[in-house]
Amino acid sequence: MSLNQSCPLCVPTTSTLLWQDDFCRVVLLNDIDYPAYCRVELLAHIKEMSDLPPLQRARMMKTVFAVEVALREIFNPDKINLASLGNKTPHLHWHVIPRFENDKHFPNPHWGEAIRDSKTTPLDANAVNILTQRITAHVECALNAA
Ligand SMILES: [Zn+2]
Repeated sequence: MSLNQSCPLCVPTTSTLLWQDDFCRVVLLNDIDYPAYCRVELLAHIKEMSDLPPLQRARMMKTVFAVEVALREIFNPDKINLASLGNKTPHLHWHVIPRFENDKHFPNPHWGEAIRDSKTTPLDANAVNILTQRITAHVECALNAA
């Protein structure tokens, strides 16, 4: 697997690891304003989705959508935001962000201008456990489906 020593995604994650296989991992970013903000990170240092062969592209997106479904089931957000930028870190990763009409930036992007103060609390251990179980179930179901 191709790794880059100066890349923060090529090293073991410092975020809460929710799920991982030999291809990608799902982490909880522990963002103070977005407590259920997850990221799906490819393990290999690859820049673009179109650098992956089609089956691996599909595998990446199955994982992203499985995380989205798990987040919707648990948190019932007003909207899910998916983003893949990588301008600063050109290592494939997808942001999966549950958005709520009363969150800090809604309806702006979470990287945009704040509209209000945040009133969030971090997920407790039980919530992280439920999220881990639900993501694991959905990802493994998605990857094992034909
Ligand atoms: Zn990397």
